[in-house]
Amino acid sequence: MDEQLIIIGAGPAGYTAAIYAARASLKPLLFTGGQIGGQLTTTTEVENFPGFAEGIMGPDLMFQMSEQAQKFGTRFAYEDVISVTQQSCDDVFVVTTSGGAYKSKAVIIATGATARYLGIDGEKALIGHGLTACATCDGSFYRDVPVCVVGGGDSACEEAHFLTRFASKVYIIHRRDELRASKAMQKRVLEHDKIEMIWDSTIAAYQSDKDGELESITLENLKTGEQSSLDLKCVFMAIGHTPNSSFLGDLADRDDAGFIIRKPDCTLTKTPGLFAAGDVADAIYKQAISAAGMGCWAALDAERYINQF
Ligand code: NAP
Repeated sequence: MDEQLIIIGAGPAGYTAAIYAARASLKPLLFTGGQIGGQLTTTTEVENFPGFAEGIMGPDLMFQMSEQAQKFGTRFAYEDVISVTQQSCDDVFVVTTSGGAYKSKAVIIATGATARYLGIDGEKALIGHGLTACATCDGSFYRDVPVCVVGGGDSACEEAHFLTRFASKVYIIHRRDELRASKAMQKRVLEHDKIEMIWDSTIAAYQSDKDGELESITLENLKTGEQSSLDLKCVFMAIGHTPNSSFLGDLADRDDAGFIIRKPDCTLTKTPGLFAAGDVADAIYKQAISAAGMGCWAALDAERYINQF
């Protein structure tokens, strides 16, 4: 056996799992993948992670977690995982990466989810500068200014409603003329005097100021093709997340959207020895602190599993 525990993913769930597992002397090997630090590396200030009363920059928080994991003996491999399979003879996991194949008794999947964006020009450069996919994280930075949410599901409605606490006006831009969100959620936004619906529309272009901060968008009506301009300080994208779980084959069950299904009240997947934590296994909360909490659960679950042998 090469490894006792392999952790895949370098976000709050993966790092927390690594801290716990390393302190339990499991000497975990953590594959970072391409986006070291996960989604928090694309945010600016994090104000809601307990322990940082003055707030902390997302990348700094992730750097601290990585240092803490390393301090206790976590080893990092800067490789992308291509697949996880299981040897039929002894149930050992084989993790195949861009750098080779590694065997392990247990594996924790903490590969996160990727927020979807529209994929139009200039979008990447604006992330963290007036374009974000997390109202809970960034909403309070936009006080008394107009903002918009893109999407028509429960997330879009919940985020728009949350943003009314701060923003002077919240537009919801939706590509159809009917919301996908639950009736109760629809009622909350449709009756709110700070929220205005922009139906049948999408963003055709972004415009930024000389400092690279968003200042307006070009709206396009998808029925008429008509374009117009709207001044905004922030666009909150809420068109869904794609969980990074496709490399898993059939070792773990996933829901229709691709989120890994865990056994109740733990992080175990359908395969003994394979655990999942964080946004890849969380379609609802999607917060750094809840991902970190699940990372802790996963390490404790994995430790218990490994100790059986
Ligand atoms: P969702 O239900 O999949 O909704 C995504 C929305 O984005 C849809 O309105 C969709 O439009 C729109 N969209 C998708 N791709 C788009 C594109 N390329 N351009 C423009 N619009 C696009 O995702 P979600 O709102 O994140 O919710 C995910 C799950 O979590 C759902 O099951 C939801 O019920 C649940 N959730 C529950 C709560 C709650 O109960 N409190 C809160 C949040 C989320 P169309 O409608 O036209 O497809």
